Amino acid sequence: MTDPTDHKPDKSSPEWRLARLERENRLLRQGIRQGQRMKELWLKALDDLQANKEELARRNRRLTTLQQVSAAISETLVQDELFRRIMDAMARLIELDEQWPLGIFLVEPDGSMRLAAQRGVGDRFIVAHRKMQVGKCLCGLAARGEIVISERCVVDPRRTIDPGPMPEHGHLILPLRSKERVVGVFFYYLPPGRVIKQAELETFLAVGNQVGLAIENARLYETVRRLSIYDPLTGLYNHGQFYSLLEEELSRHQRTGLPLALLMLDIDHFKKVNDTYGHRAGDAILRQLSRLLQKEARTIDRVCRYGGEELALILPDTDLEAARKAAERLRRRVEELRFITCDQREIRLTVSIGAAACTETEAEAESLVNSADRALYAAKRAGRNRVYPL
Ligand code: GH3
Ligand code: MG
Ligand code: MG
Repeated sequence: MTDPTDHKPDKSSPEWRLARLERENRLLRQGIRQGQRMKELWLKALDDLQANKEELARRNRRLTTLQQVSAAISETLVQDELFRRIMDAMARLIELDEQWPLGIFLVEPDGSMRLAAQRGVGDRFIVAHRKMQVGKCLCGLAARGEIVISERCVVDPRRTIDPGPMPEHGHLILPLRSKERVVGVFFYYLPPGRVIKQAELETFLAVGNQVGLAIENARLYETVRRLSIYDPLTGLYNHGQFYSLLEEELSRHQRTGLPLALLMLDIDHFKKVNDTYGHRAGDAILRQLSRLLQKEARTIDRVCRYGGEELALILPDTDLEAARKAAERLRRRVEELRFITCDQREIRLTVSIGAAACTETEAEAESLVNSADRALYAAKRAGRNRVYPL
């Protein structure tokens, strides 16, 4: 008997070769399909990797901007410089192909909104937003505390201020908070169709809080700075600032050799004004006199309240003769002015003025003040309403 397994195929037979070719062909096709699948998977992995890389780069950029905003904020308390830095950082954060206008409105305690900084908005925008209010138009809505996104402003019914013809655009407007209070809004103009993604929005919200806090700090700093420099009644530089400014001008005088003069001005018989019309009237008159002096002074002059009803004017680039002439002009202006009391009565006042200027031997604050003071008291003794030295 013969075993069937013993049967050996005839490898030279055409059937066997055909079967082998088909098997090899099948394997080859399988291999090609697998190869193609591998290639597709590989390409997809590359795509994913690229997308992840871009997303990472985007996140990285946002984090860097957040860091830059923080740095900008912590480095300056001076408002204009702060706004400039904020606008730089925010312009980088939005990722647009070209620059679109942007800016900051501040919310004032009375609910009005002031355009504090902007880039590229144009004059018509500035004029149209002069009487901006919380609740009004898109920026006013954001000032109530919500992020406002408008993809096409022209057809947005919330937009109530029309700043004239402009290319079609959208807006992203962020409330800037300090603790729970909205202190301002940051507005972006956007090209039409620019969609803001959720991840971007989260970054903007975080930035909005940082910027709000920085603006509030800068405002507080500004208030403290004002209080330390200006006299609250008259708005003139106060006694301390008078001496700082005088020292500054004295060192400029020493550096450049340019002349420098000082006027000391005192209201004649001011006590009588207070006694007759009351202290409030006296205050109002001091304010009117201060306004007059500020109006009459040149921009380089410094008008200060030395103390009480005694005012001081620092006059750079002015010698004694020019200072005397300026003092005489001021004296006459005061003489001509009708001061108004609180109960709307008109009264006349006069002032006495002492002038002094730096000389080669006398260029110190104390001696300059003493000279002007001595001249002032000489003017008083000589009968008031006059300038000394003659
Ligand atoms: P003279 O011509 O000699 O300068 O007379 P005078 O009355 O102006 O001078 P005096 O020094 O006797 O009085 C100064 C007055 O100025 C007294 C003071 O109450 C008043 N005064 C000083 N500061 C203020 C102020 O801030 N408000 C008001 N209302 N009065 C002030
Ligand atoms: Mg006086
Ligand atoms: Mg006095």
